[in-house]
Amino acid sequence: MAGLTQFAYIVATTLFIFALHWMNTPATARRGVFAGVAATTIAVVVTWVQPGVIHHWWIVFAIIAGFVVGVPLSRVPLTAVPQRTALSHAFGGVAAGLVGTAEYYLWLSEGPENLTAFRMVAIIAEIILGYLTFTGSLMAAGKLQEVKWVPQRPVTYPFQNLSNLLLFGLALALAAALTIHPTAAWAPALFPVIIVLALLFGVLLIIPIGGADMPTVIAILNSYAGLSAVAMGFVLDNKLLITAGALDGSSGLILAIIMCKAMNRSFANVLFGAFGQVKPAKTGDDPDKVYKSETVEGAAQVLEQSNFVVIIPGYGMAVSQAQHKVRELYDQLKKRGITVKFAIHPVAGRMPGHMNVLLAEADIPYPDLAEMDEINPDMPQVDVALVVGANDVVNPAARTDKSSPIFGMPIIEADKARSVFAIKRSKNPGFAGIDNQLYFSDRTWMLFGDAKNVIGELVKQLSGSGMH
Ligand code: NAP
Repeated sequence: MAGLTQFAYIVATTLFIFALHWMNTPATARRGVFAGVAATTIAVVVTWVQPGVIHHWWIVFAIIAGFVVGVPLSRVPLTAVPQRTALSHAFGGVAAGLVGTAEYYLWLSEGPENLTAFRMVAIIAEIILGYLTFTGSLMAAGKLQEVKWVPQRPVTYPFQNLSNLLLFGLALALAAALTIHPTAAWAPALFPVIIVLALLFGVLLIIPIGGADMPTVIAILNSYAGLSAVAMGFVLDNKLLITAGALDGSSGLILAIIMCKAMNRSFANVLFGAFGQVKPAKTGDDPDKVYKSETVEGAAQVLEQSNFVVIIPGYGMAVSQAQHKVRELYDQLKKRGITVKFAIHPVAGRMPGHMNVLLAEADIPYPDLAEMDEINPDMPQVDVALVVGANDVVNPAARTDKSSPIFGMPIIEADKARSVFAIKRSKNPGFAGIDNQLYFSDRTWMLFGDAKNVIGELVKQLSGSGMH
């Protein structure tokens, strides 16, 4: 039995590794999901049939509860995937925290010799990381979902980082005392104090961080959840939990690093930079900041006469679910022999790969999707850059304005195209909360309105009114 269990765990680990590998590209991502589901199923079944498991109804109850929560969660729209992911991390975190808590009191009641220093370190790591991931992820999900009582913008106050650090230091000091004297008379009462401090730290860690940085924070929380699972694996002496947790932890970390690079920001800036606070100077105060509007008819004519069009999708395309209309526009332009490319910024939207997923859903051929670095050298030859609900990722301030919070972030250089049409609903800024000089440029014309409607109108113009 033991040999078979270990073999099944190796198969599950291999499947987890392949799942991550296949997630690398949209072409194999579906296979990656199936591999992950298969690995999890193997892990659950093999653990369930262990002779030590006797209360089967509890497991049945947990599986039913998992389905009751999980199935509706899987049906959220793509725009809500980051907050949905945060909720999953919250569940993972609290599960690890609860297992650590149960194991401590169980071993304490069974005999002090059980609570070795090694086990105590693992339990402490598990509960601190688990509980802070729980509240931190709930806060992150609340910010992204724009829940009323969770402020979107960073909340800052004097000595914030110092007081957070002191709080965390206090939790670690108490944890050290508990590790040294796990069976002291005061130990069972100290344990919940550490839990409360970890829960509080999770909240305080997230409130100074703005909504725009939440996807990166979620990736970091993902790695915390993975690390707490590793600690849980040591507590329960389960090798699969250790490897799966390590994979989870490292992939979260790698993802966070990729996002930080794409925004040209450091981890410290994301976690402590209070990025995304609204700047006091706003549009309208400055007479130079004038928008030029264009009609759909005019835009359709210009599009029709161009040779090279680059479509730059952003968060707004996701919000309005305009990808299918965008596909129709692409078809209309291709029919006329126009070269059409989609310029994909690595952090366009609200999660990595957001735009790729939406465009794949609308069956846009992969060869016409171009990464930022690939398309930027071609931008001066582009007749029309059509910006569909993107803002920060095309903001030239990232290149030109040293005082801008996004200075240094690589952007899609739409401003270098011969002309720009930008679709958005209003004059509001994007997620970084700053104005976009691109919209005030001589070569830019605004098409104000919901992306799906505006693109739909453009398609109608190009297909209906004899424009062939
Ligand atoms: P953005 O800067 O948030 O801009 C999106 C624009 O879409 C807004 O200006 C908004 O203007 C417009 N919009 C919203 N709903 C619309 C609708 N229904 N129809 C038409 N337009 C609509 O988005 P982005 O350019 O994609 O940039 C992404 C931002 O998220 C960056 O700041 C990036 O750093 C951050 N971020 C992303 C990730 C990631 O992994 N993707 C991770 C971390 C941070 P109106 O309100 O006027 O319509």
